[in-house]
Amino acid sequence: MRPPSLILSLLFMALPAYASDTVTKPIKQASAKEEASVPLKDEIKQLKETPIKESKAEAAARKKEAQAADELALKIAERLAEIRKDKDDVSKPAARPFVRPYVIPAKKTVSADDKSKKAAKHWSYEGEEGPLAWGKLNPSNIKCDLGERQSPIDIRDGIKVELDTLNFDYKPSQFQVIDTGHTIQVNLGAGNYLNVSGKNFELNQLHFHRPSEERVNGKGFEMVAHLVHKDRDAKLAVVAVLLELGEPHPVIQSVWNNLPLEKNEIVKALKNLDVTQLLPKRHEYYTYMGSLTTPPCSEGVLWMVMKEPVQISPEQSAIFARLYPHNARPIQKTSGRIIKESL
Ligand SMILES: [Zn+2]
Repeated sequence: MRPPSLILSLLFMALPAYASDTVTKPIKQASAKEEASVPLKDEIKQLKETPIKESKAEAAARKKEAQAADELALKIAERLAEIRKDKDDVSKPAARPFVRPYVIPAKKTVSADDKSKKAAKHWSYEGEEGPLAWGKLNPSNIKCDLGERQSPIDIRDGIKVELDTLNFDYKPSQFQVIDTGHTIQVNLGAGNYLNVSGKNFELNQLHFHRPSEERVNGKGFEMVAHLVHKDRDAKLAVVAVLLELGEPHPVIQSVWNNLPLEKNEIVKALKNLDVTQLLPKRHEYYTYMGSLTTPPCSEGVLWMVMKEPVQISPEQSAIFARLYPHNARPIQKTSGRIIKESL
């Protein structure tokens, strides 16, 4: 049971509202309903009060009327849809930016994760899978062969300028130690930052090479620690802390204390690690643009090599050497790259 005349009156009231609306005005459906609310109540009241007594013929006629009303309602709905579509078409230039906002495509950036996912098992530091073959082991390693801004380099002829201060904001953090098959890596909890030149990088992990990959005026060092930071756009900034033989270092000892027994096994340390203690006292540095020093050798990495080395004991170096006696990529061409250094 329903009153077809009610639907019709509603639709006819809505129609002129659509037709007369301007682009900016909202559709007047709401007000049409409001206006219809009084007659609606009346009609319902009337229907309730009317005694239900009708013959078969009357019922059939009413059914037919209802069908006709339905058809008409359908036609009106179609027409309304057309009107609405036309209006949308007219208003497209203004409306589209809100309907479909332009989304900046995600940049393909260098990420430390690439390195472990893509090429972890298929390269080494010697033999057939050694550094000279890296570029051919996997198509994604192409930069290892053809890149013009590769790392490490022999740092020399730096331009001496007043470099931006390195603002280290490290704090004692939870850490895990993993033997990746290429080095010993320390994964750090969140909250360690490096702010330089107005950019904020978070420290993700640090790892070691023996001997140091970078040279300074041709001179190599016993080892190096690479502190790998990432900013919001996944751009990498690596701080290199050169390690020379001398006194034992407490941070190195904490890491070695948690060395895993198996490759790719993660050891969750029970104590915190304060990476601030691994930094040299003086914060002068060399800086240049380079790459990951392991496959896929992705470029666009900001390098900051601390000038002052930090000491580790011969025993500490020997412990690392039992696992990785030599895990350093050879020196790469500078190819006219600018190197800057602190005054
Ligand atoms: Zn490294």
